[in-house]
Amino acid sequence: MNCDQARTEIIAYLKNEVDLTARKRLEEHIAFCPNCRHELEGARRLLSWTEAASQEAVAEKVKELIINAIAAGASDIHFEPQRDTELQVRYRVDGVMHEVDRIDPTQRHGVVTRVKMLAEMSVSETSVPLDGRLMMTHNDKDYDLRVSSVPFVFGEALVLRIFDRSASLPGLDRLRFSESDLEQIRNWLGQPNGMIIVTGPTGSGKTTTLYSMLMEVNSPEHKIMTIEDPVEYVIPGVNHAQVNVKAGFTFAAALRSFFRHDPDVIMVGETRDLETELLALRAAITGHLVLNTLHTNDAIGAIGRLTDMGVEPFLVGASLIGVMSQRLARLICRDCREPVDADAGALGYLGITSEEIAGNAIYRGKGCDNCRHTGYKGRTGVYEVLTIDKDLASMIGNGATYSEILEAAKAKGFRTMREDVKRKVLDGITTPEEATRVLV
Ligand SMILES: [Zn+2]
Ligand SMILES: [Zn+2]
Repeated sequence: MNCDQARTEIIAYLKNEVDLTARKRLEEHIAFCPNCRHELEGARRLLSWTEAASQEAVAEKVKELIINAIAAGASDIHFEPQRDTELQVRYRVDGVMHEVDRIDPTQRHGVVTRVKMLAEMSVSETSVPLDGRLMMTHNDKDYDLRVSSVPFVFGEALVLRIFDRSASLPGLDRLRFSESDLEQIRNWLGQPNGMIIVTGPTGSGKTTTLYSMLMEVNSPEHKIMTIEDPVEYVIPGVNHAQVNVKAGFTFAAALRSFFRHDPDVIMVGETRDLETELLALRAAITGHLVLNTLHTNDAIGAIGRLTDMGVEPFLVGASLIGVMSQRLARLICRDCREPVDADAGALGYLGITSEEIAGNAIYRGKGCDNCRHTGYKGRTGVYEVLTIDKDLASMIGNGATYSEILEAAKAKGFRTMREDVKRKVLDGITTPEEATRVLV
């Protein structure tokens, strides 16, 4: 018997589907062939995992974990192998991780394999990162779960990002912008051309803001095209395109092809390279309204990021109409909210004076069943919104520094994120601690 023959018989052998002679022949080969022995061990492990995955208890466990995550309003589910034994399960709710379960060693591989099977990922491949997707319906709502696996030393970890396909996107007026910030953004969206940039770290709610902006300009008179990775929501009337790097459909390739379809509004998800950014900026100065996101800490930082990437300052000044930055702060739970004595340290950090507190109580959530005893439920954006008017545009074009732009912006009434979150603390919708946490 040679190795090729041995390999074709391994599965049948493990399932006890071979006769005695064939069994002996294979065992003799395996005794002397480390490669086939390795193959056999791999197949045996895989078989036990897929068998475990098909057990009703495992299927139920996976279903229950997903449904509970949806009920808890989790944005993602994390399966993380601990040492060689347990599998830790955590939900991220309102941006913060909570442990919800530990799967014991007998079910651990079954659970991971079950999720991978549901997401149509290769079950036998456990040593490279994989992506998958599973759709489900629960209580008449459609959910799209993006599954990603990464091999760690204790085994494969999985993250399931949950997208609620049936959720209605909030309009701009529900995102808790201050009146003047909202007015500025609506003004930008009324322009026929120019670039709008939304900045913030991953998970700061940029996508929601961008989609809300798209809904604002969405009308039969406008042709809107997006290039995203991934497409998170679909807005009727908008042409959403998904990046496909393997097929050569990159952000830059998509943008070049878009011009042939003559869009009025273009949304470009994350841009990290100069080529994409230049295409987007050119679109913005040639009659298109362009929405874009960047990873910077604050609004003014976006200007420096563009010039650092190699964009000429004059092009930045000529194309930008507005830059905003944001974070997400947890909202105090409505069910257990109570006024408290504010902690002087946190108030000092926020720059809240005792006079300002005088007329406004500081609130906190004391914790209840509705908020998993965290005192928080739901989140709000915290923003800074900067309109690039003629003065600022020419300063940028002339290579003004960060602090020069900041000073000029403040003179025009620009309010930083710190001021926005401070107002939200004084409004009693979030806490000084949470405000401090999101600003750091
Ligand atoms: Zn062999
Ligand atoms: Zn509560």
